[in-house]
Amino acid sequence: MCTTLNALRTPSDVTPTGKAPARRPHLSVRLDRERCCSAGQCAGAAPDVFEQSDTDGRVTLLVPEPDQRHAADVRLAADLCPSGAIMLTDKP
Ligand code: SF4
Repeated sequence: MCTTLNALRTPSDVTPTGKAPARRPHLSVRLDRERCCSAGQCAGAAPDVFEQSDTDGRVTLLVPEPDQRHAADVRLAADLCPSGAIMLTDKP
């Protein structure tokens, strides 16, 4: 498994020392749980960033400042959210 994951790395994932660079935040995510209607699209689109609660069905934000690896999935999650509960701000 690790061999496969290492083979999938892009050159920008590895520094000359062979270590992965620190990931810079790419987006800032705010979540209004009061607006969440438990539709679950966000957790489906970006499961590393959003998690649906087992107790009330509303979503929990796992990563408030995701890096670029998750940016497309998070933008899709915000687009799919039927209640507009997910607000994004681009990080410079
Ligand atoms: S997509 Fe929107 S409404 Fe659905 S669980 Fe996520 S935040 Fe809540």
